[in-house]
Amino acid sequence: MARKWVYLFTEGNANMRELLGGKGANLAEMTNIGLPVPQGFTITTEACTQYYEDGREINPEIQGQIEEYIGKMEEITGKKFGDKENPLLVSVRSGARASMPGMMDTILNLGLNEEVVNVIAEKSGNPRWAWDCYRRFIQMYSDVVMEVGKKYFEELIDKMKEEKGVKQDVELSADDLKKLAGQFKEEYKGKIGKDFPDDPREQLMGAVKAVFRSWDNPRANVYRRDNDIPYSWGTAVNVQAMAFGNMGDDCGTGVAFTRDPATGATGLFGEFLTNAQGEDVVAGVRTPMHISQMEEKFPEAFKQFNDVCKTLEKHYRDMQDMEFTVEHGKLYMLQTRNGKRTAQAALKIACDLVDEGMRSEEEAVAMIDPRNLDTLLHPQFDAAALKAATPIGKGLGASPGAACGKIVFSAEESVEWANRGEKVILVRLETSPEDITGMKSAQGILTVRGGMTSHAAVVARGMGECCVSGCGDIIMDEANKKFTLAGKEFHEGDFISLDGSTGNIYDGVIETVDATIAGEFGRIMGWADKYRTMKVRTNADTPTDAAKARELGAEGIGLCRTEHMFFEEDRIAAFREMICSDTVEERKTALDKILPLQQGDFEALFEAMEGDPVTIRFLDPPLHEFVPTAEEDIKKLAEAKGKTVEDIKAIIDSLHEFNPMMGHRGCRLAVAYPEIAEMQTRAVIRAAINVQKAHPDWEVEPEIEIPLVGEVKELKYVKNFVVATAEEEIAASDTKVKYLVGTMIEIPRACLVADEIATEAEFFCFGTNDLTQMTYGFSRDDAGKFLEAYYDAKIMENDPFAKLDQVGVGKLMKMAVELGKQTNPNLPVGICGEHGGDPSSVEFCHKIGLDYVSCSPFRVPIARLAAAQAAIAEK
Ligand code: PEP
Ligand code: MG
Repeated sequence: MARKWVYLFTEGNANMRELLGGKGANLAEMTNIGLPVPQGFTITTEACTQYYEDGREINPEIQGQIEEYIGKMEEITGKKFGDKENPLLVSVRSGARASMPGMMDTILNLGLNEEVVNVIAEKSGNPRWAWDCYRRFIQMYSDVVMEVGKKYFEELIDKMKEEKGVKQDVELSADDLKKLAGQFKEEYKGKIGKDFPDDPREQLMGAVKAVFRSWDNPRANVYRRDNDIPYSWGTAVNVQAMAFGNMGDDCGTGVAFTRDPATGATGLFGEFLTNAQGEDVVAGVRTPMHISQMEEKFPEAFKQFNDVCKTLEKHYRDMQDMEFTVEHGKLYMLQTRNGKRTAQAALKIACDLVDEGMRSEEEAVAMIDPRNLDTLLHPQFDAAALKAATPIGKGLGASPGAACGKIVFSAEESVEWANRGEKVILVRLETSPEDITGMKSAQGILTVRGGMTSHAAVVARGMGECCVSGCGDIIMDEANKKFTLAGKEFHEGDFISLDGSTGNIYDGVIETVDATIAGEFGRIMGWADKYRTMKVRTNADTPTDAAKARELGAEGIGLCRTEHMFFEEDRIAAFREMICSDTVEERKTALDKILPLQQGDFEALFEAMEGDPVTIRFLDPPLHEFVPTAEEDIKKLAEAKGKTVEDIKAIIDSLHEFNPMMGHRGCRLAVAYPEIAEMQTRAVIRAAINVQKAHPDWEVEPEIEIPLVGEVKELKYVKNFVVATAEEEIAASDTKVKYLVGTMIEIPRACLVADEIATEAEFFCFGTNDLTQMTYGFSRDDAGKFLEAYYDAKIMENDPFAKLDQVGVGKLMKMAVELGKQTNPNLPVGICGEHGGDPSSVEFCHKIGLDYVSCSPFRVPIARLAAAQAAIAEK
């Protein structure tokens, strides 16, 4: 039997959104519960997928079923396509599984031609309305189906208004509109080379095709990527009998929410226009009135609408966003869906629904999109100011928040300007660890290069600071302290504004307001904690970050990148002395200077975490990242070491690597220079002993983490002297502390031999930044350059450095968990790559049985919520 590609509204229900799309499923559901819905049919999302499989053609089987359902629709409505007595007019609207407002196409008044327009003009006694419908239809059809730009038609309307000496479309007469329809058709013929189609069936097939095609338009593609909607879902098409809101003053159309989508406040919220079609409300051609005024105009319909709102909210147990039309005083429902809402509104609505007895706590937790919480945690642009502004460029929204300040081009200037009270935006080709203090003192960071896991992005997220990375359109001239973007030259001191969520860049100042955390936030988080099973830790290198993360609910540190500590002013010199040593003794002398400083850092971290677990990752990056580049610094180093400038330069040259990310880094440093790891071990253990002594009621148990292990012997080798050193320190003290030695799992080989590695490792933690880099062979710092091309070519839908590649990298992780637990069933396993704060990746981590995720402080609430949702979904 042929597959069923088309469903009447009476054949579907709300559970069929995968097949019928959200709009189709809800139209069916509203029909089922007896609401006044103009009847029609839905062409399935599978038909859309088939359209693409068939080379963007609607195959004869699907066409046949559409024809058949037109017949059924004609029977139900008692109207016929092209009929001279009672013609059927329809709307054709897209509707994907997840709502994508404004992303795809809609056509209204389909079925009109010269004959039909005359029939409806006569029958309604309202020729103005009839011709208005026709000219709108030609305009929409030409634009959406045939891609003749809107502007040609708008020019014709403007010309007509000028000729008639009127300002508004509504002031044009039936004759004017008739003339316009004729001009539109001529314009169409001129552009397309064919007459405007008169046959409603031909019009319908064209419109259905256009909606399918709109699934692949650029704005839909971008929206999908931003909202985690897979391309493979496709869109359904809804063909619905028209209800007319533009037949006179006893007609109208509106859009309304059952609660305020901005604040979540209860009560009807919406807008209404008399004598209009839906597009007029959306396009803002006329200023609509508040929904409450509908009561005066249409008391009967308003009362009915109010009842419908109550029914729908009760039925869907969520805030509804509805479209409706009143035709000669009679109400028709055209759409309902769970309304989009701000993060604040989402929290309030979820809590209210629990209080109203409509939802359970688990359901309330499951209703919140974790990604939205971001906006509650960072300063925000003033909504009205942002709406009025036009972006001048776009990069990656690497770290959310709103930032506004004067442009500076170096970390030093950032510090200097900030110290004298200026707000600055640090603009760099890319950032390096040396820029940290400058990054900290800036309001936001803008880089020309770099992806979602570039240095700037990772560090900014860690700091909770706004960052837009990888804006390749910027033509940078650092030497002359200027850059060009969108044809304008920007100089040091000029104001720009950054939106770290969208990646938009604005010229000048956009006002910001402080983020407010509503009371409901804590309530929802409390419920999330009750239901989640995975722990949530944070990636933090400083006591300030650690304290912030704890405030946001972190239950430990899952990654302290110790190298970040070496860049602080008071230790970089000693660290450079260590690197530029020729002998072990020389190196040890320099390390002895660093030891007390590191110990102090660790003590402060342990203090900040009050006995919660702390994972300390030993030195990871290649050493060349630390060497001085400025002549003056090289001279200083030479003096300190008693070497010549040439000697130092030779050492620096010798550190050069062709492929540093696969070079002398991670545990390879500890293998070559055990004294570095020994120093770090002493610092960790001494710090633990001191803090344990000071707080006997805490259980200070540091987790020493060896990075970049791919072979068990590497780990064994390093662990041997780490343990020997730790034991020596503990033996010399009067306080006993426990500690663990584990490893990052961030090399594909480590996943393949995880059973062997687990014989030595006391815990695993996935470093999915490196694991993704090495599994794909994509440089984590450069992938941004070609990923756009990959999106366009549909090779990828997301940045694998931001959203875990569950198919490939995920398979390796799953294997590593299984193999590791074969050796040690109690092996603790976590993740500390950037994915630890991405909701869909967190869900995957739950599924493969991780014990915790670790992410930057400001993503902790997101991870808590996502972990709870994963646990709830599993029940
Ligand atoms: C990782 O590789 O995922 C990781 C957490 O370590 P880093 O980002 O410091 O390389
Ligand atoms: Mg790593």
